Amino acid sequence: MNNIQQKTKELLESGACTLIIGYEKGTGGKARPVFVRKAEHAAKLIFDESCDQNIAGYLYRQEIKNESKKAIVANNHTLKSIVELASENQIHEGDFMVLAFTAEGEIIELKSFEEIEKHVATLYHGLNDEDKATMQKIEAMTMEERWGFWENEFSKCIKCYACRASCPMCYCPTCTVEINQPQWIPVPSHTLGNLEWHVMRAMHLAGRCITCGQCAKSCPLDLPIHLLTYKVALDSEQYFDSVAGTSVCANNVLATFKTEDHENFIR
Ligand code: SF4
Ligand code: SF4
Repeated sequence: MNNIQQKTKELLESGACTLIIGYEKGTGGKARPVFVRKAEHAAKLIFDESCDQNIAGYLYRQEIKNESKKAIVANNHTLKSIVELASENQIHEGDFMVLAFTAEGEIIELKSFEEIEKHVATLYHGLNDEDKATMQKIEAMTMEERWGFWENEFSKCIKCYACRASCPMCYCPTCTVEINQPQWIPVPSHTLGNLEWHVMRAMHLAGRCITCGQCAKSCPLDLPIHLLTYKVALDSEQYFDSVAGTSVCANNVLATFKTEDHENFIR
């Protein structure tokens, strides 16, 4: 029995928790989320490099909110989302416990937002090498080349909204794409409508994207749409010193202003 299985067994047996949200072995070498309610099912749980999904979104689902004694097994992306969701009042202190891991692989229980925030401060917040390289390639393009790049990518989008469903920061009960009076975003999947959908998504996530890449991982067509929200996240940091998922008390970059804010990007 590994560490996370042992810990889960103890928490469920002692009654400290009645639900553990974590990961189990899936198909194709991937992990998938699992809900464990009985100590005898603790052996299902795993935690390794395959557990890269961001599962923070479960915490604000109504059916989960009603569970009073729950814990979530959190990778770094999930932890950052928890901080961002807390700053947006979507989840509340004391409603859940976090089972996180130290660099040495030791399990730690984080109960207060302050503890979670402190642990998050020790994590790496940058992009991975592959995303950095693709971002640099796109940044080096001329405006026309960049337009062509995204036009080509958007032309493939089938508007399945898996990217939206998988993003913990997309929690509006009614998304703008589902509003039809007026119809802000065209329903069919054509290049212009797809462009509008993706620009809208990127702007709604401005200053809120914690750069987990879950949206792109969920896309059945492998569209690099995470780079759009990453770009806005990098701009938020560069121009407004705002990094999502780092402070429970942070105000959203689009909901606040300072008189000394940069305005040179407004044209
Ligand atoms: S990378 Fe994608 S899934 Fe993750 S927070 Fe940003 S927009 Fe959401
Ligand atoms: S998951 Fe991919 S195909 Fe589906 S809406 Fe998002 S970008 Fe388009």
